[in-house]
Amino acid sequence: MIKAILTLFLLVVGAAPVLADKAPFADIHLHYNWDQEEVVEPAKAVQILQDHNVVLAVVFSTPTPNALKLVSQDGVRIIHFFSPYISVRNRNSWFRDEQVLVEAREGLQSGKYTGIGELHVVPGLGPRRDDKVLQGLLKLAAEFNVPFNIHTEAASHSFFKPICQQYSDVRFLWAHAGGLLPPEDAVSIFKVCPNVWIELSAKDPWHYGGLADDDGKLKENWKKVLLQYPDRFMVGTDPVWNAHQRDRWYEADEGWLHYDKFINFHRNWLGQLPKQVEEKIRLTNALEFFSKKPGNHSSN
Ligand SMILES: [Zn+2]
Repeated sequence: MIKAILTLFLLVVGAAPVLADKAPFADIHLHYNWDQEEVVEPAKAVQILQDHNVVLAVVFSTPTPNALKLVSQDGVRIIHFFSPYISVRNRNSWFRDEQVLVEAREGLQSGKYTGIGELHVVPGLGPRRDDKVLQGLLKLAAEFNVPFNIHTEAASHSFFKPICQQYSDVRFLWAHAGGLLPPEDAVSIFKVCPNVWIELSAKDPWHYGGLADDDGKLKENWKKVLLQYPDRFMVGTDPVWNAHQRDRWYEADEGWLHYDKFINFHRNWLGQLPKQVEEKIRLTNALEFFSKKPGNHSSN
């Protein structure tokens, strides 16, 4: 009898973390690129999100319309961003193609897309901050009042600062906390740009790393800033694989097949925060952020 009770107790205790693992999650950084579709068809991708209790998902893709193949259903709200990578061919030269602006305006006007990004602005690779297409997209984000996901990889937050200051009415999501920046530097952006939120996608050990130790323990310096600014962070899985394995360029991107690994990594470090903060970063910051309807400022 005692053994039976003990077994039952262990079952219940054992089950608890599993349930906790499935707490609703807002994944605000997903790609559904042409070479990911080769591996995981749209229905399967949405199924993966459902299986992990993802209730809000932000998707970008190359080419741009591929993201539209993932449609909201049964508990998953999918938000499509306009990616400037309108064709596979312009992936690295989008800022030289003014057609991007034409399609962005059409896409936002039609309501198909309710955000802009992810787009990469990397010093040395381009575009320059005063680039016409980049500036045009920033203006469109302001005009249509939609969020803007930007990926910069600079040595300091100061590279991004003139952009978020110039477009103070655009709500920015800063991808991957700026890449490899130390947390103290990344959060310096909050002091100069109240219109920036930091998203921590790809800070897992298979991409940028830096957020947690090898054993998954959240690093103290990161914990400190997360506790300091609990309303300013969000999280995403960024399920691209092979991204840093250039010798495998000829293979399709099987990132979606590793989705559980990415999301479990994030759930694990989130679980090391006080419950209230954990819930904000895992879910409610994003729900609040995306509750604002796109459209002209006057209508909001
Ligand atoms: Zn990125």
